[in-house]
Amino acid sequence: MSEVIIIGGGIIGMLTARELHNAGVDVLVIERGPLGGESSWAGGGIISPLYPWRYSESVNQLAEISKTIYPALAQQ
Ligand SMILES: Cc1cc2nc3c(=O)[nH]c(=O)nc-3n(C[C@H](O)[C@H](O)[C@H](O)COP(=O)(O)OP(=O)(O)OC[C@H]3O[C@@H](n4cnc5c(N)ncnc54)[C@H](O)[C@@H]3O)c2cc1C
Repeated sequence: MSEVIIIGGGIIGMLTARELHNAGVDVLVIERGPLGGESSWAGGGIISPLYPWRYSESVNQLAEISKTIYPALAQQ
């Protein structure tokens, strides 16, 4: 029996599963279709806010931090 069950194998479910797995948690992903086959399949790969001036400074800081770790994450 897994410690954690995640319903939905899109990018959010799979990255959550990855974090939990790397932390030593036994996790199970249940997906009704192909993994990454819904919204995550359609995503265009834009990782910056399109209109940074419309977002709070904290959101823009998060986006900047995310951009620095994105290449390594994508490679993994
Ligand atoms: C055309 C388009 C372009 C986009 N472009 C970008 C972009 O450039 N940059 C960006 O940041 N975001 C973009 N997005 C948004 C981004 O793709 C989504 O926010 C993201 O993929 C959502 O991920 P998710 O894991 O939450 O959802 P999903 O990828 O939809 O995953 C949810 C999963 O749950 C499964 N599921 C649902 N119910 C059940 C159930 N009862 N049992 C089992 N499985 C179930 C579904 O089958 C699905 O696979 C875009 C979205 C679209 C549609």
